[in-house]
Amino acid sequence: MTAKRKRFIAGAVCPECHSADTLAVWRENNVESVSCVKCGFTQRQTDQPPADKRPDPEKIIGIFHPE
Ligand SMILES: [Zn+2]
Repeated sequence: MTAKRKRFIAGAVCPECHSADTLAVWRENNVESVSCVKCGFTQRQTDQPPADKRPDPEKIIGIFHPE
């Protein structure tokens, strides 16, 4: 068991080398990353809002009341 589990994307084509089924995806620090195992192409998909629109994590502590 490894912390980082990579999944291959079936049918995905690498934008760099145009090979099929060589793209692996995994999550790292809540960022979905895609990497081609053939040419080494790497892309990070940041689907989070910009930092200036995200609440400060330190300010969130104390606000959440699970009731
Ligand atoms: Zn590639």
